[in-house]
Amino acid sequence: MIRIENLTKVYTSRKEQVVAIQDISLHIPKGAIYGIIGLSGAGKSTLVRCINRLEEPTGGKIVIDGQDLTAMSAPELRQARQKIGMIFQHFHLLQSRTVFDNIAFPLEIAGFKKLEIEERVKELLPLVGLEDKAYAYPSQLSGGQKQRVGIARALATNPKVLLCDEATSALDPQTTLSILDLLKDINQRFGLTIIMITHEMKVVKEICTDVAVIHESKIAEQGPVESVFIHP
Ligand code: ADP
Ligand code: ADP
Repeated sequence: MIRIENLTKVYTSRKEQVVAIQDISLHIPKGAIYGIIGLSGAGKSTLVRCINRLEEPTGGKIVIDGQDLTAMSAPELRQARQKIGMIFQHFHLLQSRTVFDNIAFPLEIAGFKKLEIEERVKELLPLVGLEDKAYAYPSQLSGGQKQRVGIARALATNPKVLLCDEATSALDPQTTLSILDLLKDINQRFGLTIIMITHEMKVVKEICTDVAVIHESKIAEQGPVESVFIHP
């Protein structure tokens, strides 16, 4: 469902050129929980930013559901981006808005009517276990609860892909497990494809079906988790 072909990104400044990712090809099957693991500086953030087109790749293709994201006009790209939900390490919630209004935000931007928005948010709150926090502000929530808001917000527009950028790196081990359980549950219930960018092996071992190891801007290995990691 997602094909990345020969993706390359070179950052060019007046002084130097940095090859951040080089000739990366990945096939991510529909319904997979696909881990992308690598050390700091390996190129993970650049890959994410190319996938959601916050960054223009220097070369290569990103094909989602048969549509090439690298060959689109701006309005087409805006449409296609709605297929990709994203969650972040530091949550990026709007501090002046309640949980309810944070989740509603992408729906407002997409132009849904007030009643539709209310209905959708009321579906999402129990899905992430926050029925009783609808009118709380982010500052009143734990880290795990904030990430649950992030997940609900990412799912609001019904994306096909959820892109998780170090989504549990700011959480303690127990909260990490509860967030991973929630993601696994969402993956199984809705067949949502999940991409997990992480530097933590335990995240990959806990939930990923497939994994790619990115090392010094290139893919070192990829495949089903059990064939890539043969050691316990
Ligand atoms: P990771 O997310 O795995 O830590 P990054 O994608 O952030 O890796 O970085 C990959 C390489 O690209 C690093 O060498 C980094 O210094 C470089 N890099 C990242 N962003 C920029 C940028 N905007 N301009 C120049 N170099 C960058
Ligand atoms: P960090 O966790 O290191 O603070 P993130 O992974 O959270 O960084 O953010 C990655 C990038 O995504 C940032 O460069 C930021 O500009 C961008 N970003 C932040 N919030 C949003 C958002 N709500 N939607 C799209 N992009 C965002």
